[in-house]
Order: sequence, then C-alpha cells, then structure tokens
Amino acid sequence: MPTETTGTPSTTALRSEIEADVRALRDSFDAGTTRGLDARLAQLAALRRGLRREEPRLARALAEDLGKSRTESALTEIGVVSQEIAHTMKHLRSWLRPEKLALGAMLAPASGELRREPLGTTLIISPWNYPVNLTLAPLVAAIAAGNTTIVTPSEVAPATSAALTHLLRSHLDPDWVRVVEGAVTETTILLEQRFDLIFYTGNAAVGRIVARAAAEHLTPTVLELGGKSPVFVDEGADLAVTARRIVWGKFTNAGQTCIAPDYLMATPRTLERLRPHLRRAVRALYGGRPERSLDYGRMVSAKHFERVLGLIDDDRAILGGTGEADADTRYLPPTIMQDVDWDDAVMGEEIFGPVLPLLAVSGPDEAIARIRSGDKPLTAYVFSPRRAVEERFAEETSSGSLALGVTLAHVGTPGMPFGGVGESGMGAYHGRAGFEAFTHAKPVVKKPLTPDTLKLVYPPYRGAKRRMLRRLMR
Ligand code: NAD
Repeated sequence: MPTETTGTPSTTALRSEIEADVRALRDSFDAGTTRGLDARLAQLAALRRGLRREEPRLARALAEDLGKSRTESALTEIGVVSQEIAHTMKHLRSWLRPEKLALGAMLAPASGELRREPLGTTLIISPWNYPVNLTLAPLVAAIAAGNTTIVTPSEVAPATSAALTHLLRSHLDPDWVRVVEGAVTETTILLEQRFDLIFYTGNAAVGRIVARAAAEHLTPTVLELGGKSPVFVDEGADLAVTARRIVWGKFTNAGQTCIAPDYLMATPRTLERLRPHLRRAVRALYGGRPERSLDYGRMVSAKHFERVLGLIDDDRAILGGTGEADADTRYLPPTIMQDVDWDDAVMGEEIFGPVLPLLAVSGPDEAIARIRSGDKPLTAYVFSPRRAVEERFAEETSSGSLALGVTLAHVGTPGMPFGGVGESGMGAYHGRAGFEAFTHAKPVVKKPLTPDTLKLVYPPYRGAKRRMLRRLMR
C-alpha cells in the first residue's frame, strides 16, 4: 500500500470518514434494512427515477469527460442501466425463490433447498470509460441481492463522477448506498476496510492491487478487466457488413472500450479486399472529417491521448495518423495501420484508443495459435461464413466471450453473463449472473429427528452394519 495514506492529518480525517461510512452500512445491513423484496424493489425504482431525472446532467458530464454524444450516452450508458433495472425488477422475485435440492437416498428422510443470501457490505470500484454503465449496472445487482454498498467512481472522468455522486446521494437511501469520491488515496483507504465482496472494473495492474488487499480479509472479488480482444476475418465473409461492424466496435467511444476489437487478423488476400471497406465504413459512420462528427468521442485525458498517440506509426497508417491529432481537444482520428508486426509497440499493450492494426495470418490455424499464445482476451470476434471455422474458435480458444458476426452489441443484454477469464478477469454479471455474483448460494438442509436413521452410520462398525455400510459406499 502506498505510504501516502498513513499519517497526514487530512488522510487521518479521510480514513475516519470512510470507516464511519463502512460502519453505518454494516449496521444497516445487520439491522435487516436490505433483506425484504419490497425494500429492494423500492431502491431499484428509486434508482430508475433518479436515472430518468438526472439523465441531462449525466449526458452533459459524459460529453465533457469523453465527448460522448447524447445518443451514444443513451445507448451505451444510461439505456444499458435502465434495461438492467427493468430486467432485474421483473425477475427478482423468482431469483429469490429457494430452489429445491435433491439430496439422495443416504440422507432420507430429509428435505433441502438452496437459498440466495446477500453477502453484506460490498464495494464497487469503477473506471472512467463507461462511467455510468460500469458504476450503476453492478450497483443494480448489489441492491437486488440485498447488500449495502460503497461506490467509488473513477476520478479520471471527474464530471461524471460528480454527476453520479449527485444522483446517488439525492435519490438513494444512505442506509443502502454511499459514495466515496476520489482517487488512489481514497481507494487505498477503502481497500484497507473489510468488505464482503469487492467488485472492480479497470486495468489488470490495479486488479492485482485490489486482489492483494482483498486477500487480507479473505474477501471475494469480481474483477472485470481488459486486454487485447482479437478479430479474425475469414475468407468469404461479407466484407462490407463486416467492416462496418468492426469499425463501429473499434471507434465507438474513440476506442476506449474494454471489449473493443483491439487488432484484426486476416489472410493478405482478405486484408487487401477489406481495406477499402474499412475506409468506407469510417467515412459512412463519422464522415470525411471525424473531428467534426457529433458522434465521435475524445480521449479522456492528456495522459491517455499521449499514450495512444505514441502507438501510431504514420508510415503504416492507411487512415488517420498523428498529423490529424489535436492535443488541445484530445482528438485522435480513427486510425488504421497496415503491415503491423507482432512485436510492434501497438501489439505490446491493450490499445484502448482509436487505432486498428491489421495483421496478416495464413488462415484460421495461425489466428487460433496467436490467440492461444497470448493472455485470454475479454472477447474474441470472428467473421466467417464457415460454421466449422466458428466452431473451431469456440472449441480451441478461451476468452470471456466469443462473438460471431457481431461486435459490442452482444454485451448490452441482461440475459448474458458478462465477464473475463484468466488475465481478462474473474466472475461475471448482468441479469441473473450479477444477482448470483452478489449473493451466497446457501444450502439449507432439514432432517427430522425421528426416525433416527443416522443410527445406521454411527460407530461402532461391526458385523452386519459394517458390511452394509461398505456395500453402500462402494
Ligand atoms: P481507472 O484508471 O479509472 O481505474 C479504475 C479504478 O481503479 C478507479 O476507480 C481508480 O480510482 C482506481 N484506481 C486506480 N489506481 C489505483 C490504485 N493504485 N489503487 C487503488 N485503486 C486505484 O480505469 P482504467 O483502469 O484506466 O480503465 C481501463 C481498463 O479497464 C482497461 O484495461 C479496460 O479494458 C478495463 N475495463 C474493463 C471493463 C470490463 O467490464 N471488463 C470495462 C471497462 C474497462
């Protein structure tokens, strides 16, 4: 833990405030505030009302932090959360219904059920790229599951952090949800506290810090991380549609999307034919001057602008490039780079910006081998007219999800668990998966005292009893 959090008078005061928040939420949980179905539904309804009322404020903040258009914010941020609330409110009663357990002959007579109990007081740490969606969608699950929660939005999107804080403080009950705004110091103090679940979305380096801190209290974690999500375009795919879907997935939010297609693999022949379609798709979506498009975003900060700028090699850019970039407005053009090698800088890290490298492979065999040789990605994308090729990617590669013929849109649905595997994270949420992530599945078993059938398994084990037990356990 950084030492900056120990000692100074201001951090001492901050620590006391945070400890008081955690204590208040724990007391509230222990008092049963969050147990009842109606109480949970009421908080979810309050969140839905707040989201509607504060929509203009949130949209303004998203435009300020990320240059997001109102429509894009409605589609990828606020709309996703509204859907999540509606789906959860519709299904919560049935999710809470205990499931009957089949216990088997050995325990008979007995009955059993699986109950979903809330974990307690939870912590949600969220990132800046979809700050509304990635803060509130996990919160919907936390509330539905009957927990109390501290939310800490990312300081890297400051306007949205302030708007979210306003929304949560003015519409939700502080006995359920509290917000701690701030940066590393605040998060570090939060991580010293004992929680019953930590739900973190962000990069894997901080993911490791979170997991280490959680281990101190044996706190379970859901880690929603990122990585380089590959795309493979097969021979024979409809290249016009494929190009539009890839361009949309890549350049939405100026590439600052955890599941954005990171790099594209195809045979040299397919790349040759795909290139004009990619250029055309960028023009169709964002016009000839994307800096003037109301639907094209900006890099979140000067630091991120500089980092992604440094990954662009102008000699290989067939669209965009550093010459069109503008540091003052943090504008990076949609950039496509050809003839990229596996050891180029742009392939050394998750790009997380509007740069699409094109890499030549010999076919599906090499594409699969490349994916298998790296970290398990959050999503893998395949565009192929061949069922057998799709099936090979499904069977031979591992990723958080596999999307065939589609980018981004697949994760907006509450019916699909969303999460990573390996280096791209652990655990999943959205819909029922989120409810499950924030609950413990507790078997409750009941056996009548008479007849006392357990007499059959008590020692001493002699003669007929021993023979019977040995036979039974075979
Ligand atoms: P970020 O910098 O906003 O960090 C995320 C959170 O971690 C913030 O709340 C921040 O305050 C906190 N944090 C930062 N440094 C910390 C430290 N040293 N100690 C404790 N807490 C700290 O966001 P980011 O990490 O730049 O987000 C981008 C990354 O997140 C990308 O890798 C992306 O792929 C990934 N991501 C994943 C998902 C997903 O759902 N799987 C979604 C969005 C982003």
